[in-house]
Amino acid sequence: AKHGSRGYMLYSDLRPSGGPQPSPVLLAHRLSEALERQELFLHYQPKISLQDGQLVGVEALVRWRTREGVNISPAEFIPVAERASIIHPLNDMIFEQAMQQAVQWRAQGWQFPVSVNLSARLIDDAQFLTRLTSRLYELGLPPEALVIELTETALIANPNQAMTVLEAFRSNQLAISVDDFGAGYTSLGYLREMDIAEIKIDQMFVRQLQAGSRDASIVRSVAALGKGFGVHVTAEGVEDPSQWALLRALGCDHGQGYSIARPMPAEAFPQWWRKWQQEHQQQPPFTAS
Ligand code: C2E
Ligand code: MG
Ligand code: MG
Ligand code: MG
Repeated sequence: AKHGSRGYMLYSDLRPSGGPQPSPVLLAHRLSEALERQELFLHYQPKISLQDGQLVGVEALVRWRTREGVNISPAEFIPVAERASIIHPLNDMIFEQAMQQAVQWRAQGWQFPVSVNLSARLIDDAQFLTRLTSRLYELGLPPEALVIELTETALIANPNQAMTVLEAFRSNQLAISVDDFGAGYTSLGYLREMDIAEIKIDQMFVRQLQAGSRDASIVRSVAALGKGFGVHVTAEGVEDPSQWALLRALGCDHGQGYSIARPMPAEAFPQWWRKWQQEHQQQPPFTAS
């Protein structure tokens, strides 16, 4: 199977040409099989300080390669898992792998936090939080080793409930990051009440970012908001190195995107990090040249 320019295929690409679309039920079935066979795994994408190019964290992103060797996008299978309740074991597997990786990195002297995306379906699952905190304890990981990413859309779907949940996470010293910010409709009134550590600006404002554009105004506003609230603002989807200096000038703290690094297997990480440091030893990476 060939991967398109998006780097992965859609499940619908699997069907024999002219054949019927695979149904969500079939996809859910294949997904739970894949979970049992441990065919799902994590890649990690670095997050960099736009001030000095230092590594400030990594985001864990789940990957599924089918028996046919086809990569299916999480944007496609996470919603299926959510509808089919496979999301509970899937989510447990994701957090377990991410925590074990954090243990390994810490043993090697790397202290950066690992961000993990939490499905909206798990947001009010008190048992998940209990399992998570006891697992952290068993593994000897401090809560700062993890950051929980929740999408703005998930948070705002039921803001009062979300507020209670956020408090539960915070009382366990777990940091919350608001993912895909700007794609949803957070009222500033709610944002004011939410105890969050990071805002990640949705990629749609970053992808084609240019100086003087409306995107730039939005990014600057969100960065100012974050600064006022004392939360870090991360720009996601930074595809072009020429955007680094602009994002920094607009007030963003951190950057993540293909122009820094693509998501990669954990084994590839040390080599990437060495290369990045060598490249940016002489000159800080994000100054306009
Ligand atoms: P997200 O959490 O906002 O993750 C960022 C997505 O943008 C990732 O796509 C990442 O590979 C991609 N990305 C990063 N930099 C660039 C860039 O410069 N250009 C472009 N075009 N894309 C970039 P991915 O891995 O396909 O994941 C898509 C979404 O699926 C995630 O968006 C998240 O909502 C969900 N997802 C991924 N992994 C997990 C997971 O472990 N659990 C849950 N619940 N959701 C996940
Ligand atoms: Mg995310
Ligand atoms: Mg995002
Ligand atoms: Mg997204």
